[in-house]
Amino acid sequence: MLYLSEREKDQLVGHSRREYPDEACGILAGKGERVQKIYQMINADKSTRTFFMDPREQLRVMKEIRSSGLDFIGIYHSHPESRAFPSTHDVKLAYYPDVWYVIISLRDKDNPEIKAYKIVEGKIEEESIGLNPEGTPRL
Ligand SMILES: [Zn+2]
Repeated sequence: MLYLSEREKDQLVGHSRREYPDEACGILAGKGERVQKIYQMINADKSTRTFFMDPREQLRVMKEIRSSGLDFIGIYHSHPESRAFPSTHDVKLAYYPDVWYVIISLRDKDNPEIKAYKIVEGKIEEESIGLNPEGTPRL
């Protein structure tokens, strides 16, 4: 189970819409199963079908997460035209077995879909997304 607040869901969808038709990507920081901070990253691929985070930007964000007392708990990206399910390419690049992979699909423009997965050794498991109530203490 991964917990997101409504505001965080809006941030994910907003970022995905701003990058459309390219894929948007970013990092989720939090504690345990609760997302507390979203880092919008640059998609170095500038692609409608793939994403790749700049390793230097990623390193900088990882350091910032650690120094703020949070953990790196997830990676998100958008699927501008396809469903919210990891592509073969996504699975190939899923290096972190312990984090959630969140995909935002804009295939239905008026009803964006957000799904979360764990990807371990090429195996995809869907995880449910719970509502993190607003007002949860943030660090
Ligand atoms: Zn993808």
